[in-house]
Amino acid sequence: LPDLKDKVAVITGAGSGIGRAAAMLLAQQGVKVCLVDLKGDRLEQTKHEIEAAGGQAITVDIDISDPKQVQQAFDHTAHTWGRIDFVFANAGINGVLAPIEDMKSEDWDRTLAVNLKGTFLCVKHAIPHMKENGGSIVITSSINGSRTFSGFGMTAYSSSKAGQVAFAKMAALELAQYKIRVNTICPGSIKTHISENTQPTPELENINIPIKYPEGNQPLEHAPGEPEQVANLVAFLASEASHHITGTELFIDGAESLL
Ligand code: NAD
Repeated sequence: LPDLKDKVAVITGAGSGIGRAAAMLLAQQGVKVCLVDLKGDRLEQTKHEIEAAGGQAITVDIDISDPKQVQQAFDHTAHTWGRIDFVFANAGINGVLAPIEDMKSEDWDRTLAVNLKGTFLCVKHAIPHMKENGGSIVITSSINGSRTFSGFGMTAYSSSKAGQVAFAKMAALELAQYKIRVNTICPGSIKTHISENTQPTPELENINIPIKYPEGNQPLEHAPGEPEQVANLVAFLASEASHHITGTELFIDGAESLL
């Protein structure tokens, strides 16, 4: 994808999993990447590996649910490199998993604040830096946002992921005037660190519904996917090779959501 060289990207959740794999691949293609994450130590590790391979990266250690911090991250990137061409709004949490009647309102709020409000804030603060030249925005939703609902206790997570899909469609319409494309990707189970930030409550055992197919049973490979497989799709959507694709959601799940 030769048109990626010297483009500027902001990638959230770049310290781990899908965000990290996308950052590594884009940097290999010559993209200058701003790595955003809550966990500074992981960010520095990603930056170090990118630079060791000859790429260019800066890091911003912030919470994407904080409006001021998100604005500073985008302004800092544009100030450093003069433009922003691509945004990968990818950071997310599973959060607290609980039956609806036991779900605490503050736990619901935190999941929505990181996954949905965080996505809105990234797009909002990217626009001033992208509207002149156009570009591409990719949002990481999930098969749980529209097709697969077997992760019990995940009402907040699934609602946030469905919200991202609707948000991306509205944003695609609104931002077409600036030639900014907005798409969502919907991964199935991918081998990452996401379960580290999952907090199942004991009450989850009260949900007694048989699961027909275990999570991660993907017909294509009978195993969860790899972050690098998702990164390939992200690079395609970042590139002009996908220039007629906007407002859509792309499933990358080895047919898991069709079971
Ligand atoms: P991960 O935990 O490996 O990476 C997520 C990164 O986001 C972490 O480094 C974490 O520190 C960061 N992060 C979390 N909250 C943040 C915040 N408030 N501000 C800034 N950074 C924050 O998980 P992953 O699987 O790579 O997750 C990436 C995205 O993929 C998420 O949106 C997730 O919902 C989605 N997803 C994952 C899977 C899967 O099976 N792994 C499936 C579908 C969708």
